[in-house]
Amino acid sequence: MGEVIRVRTTKHTSIVNITPQVREVVRKSGVKEGVCVVYVPHTTACVFVNEGADPDVVRDIVYALEKLIPWEDPAYAHMEGNSAAHIRSAIIGNSRIIPIINGELALGTWESVFLADFDGPRERKVIVKIFKE
Ligand code: ZN
Repeated sequence: MGEVIRVRTTKHTSIVNITPQVREVVRKSGVKEGVCVVYVPHTTACVFVNEGADPDVVRDIVYALEKLIPWEDPAYAHMEGNSAAHIRSAIIGNSRIIPIINGELALGTWESVFLADFDGPRERKVIVKIFKE
């Protein structure tokens, strides 16, 4: 069971809260107990779970990533010129596993699922798979 969610990002760096779309896939599956796998099949985008209540948290994550892994660096070798996007995505990771309990994603009160695009804007795919316990 599962679905592919398509997300059109709007900025060069876009962090998109995809929790409603992932919840909808879980709801449609009818699975009450199991796991939800969220996978992003892109090399310059990734997925993470973190605070969705205060948008400043996402802002600070973007700030810190840009500081740690700057867009420009004369030592980068990759010809395409988007090494920073590859590195940020590789570090964060392109999948997450979220338990399903009582038919709902078992996210914490303040948690949301985010698609991060570091080389947008583009259309990104998010593969959501549901496994029954
Ligand atoms: Zn590249």
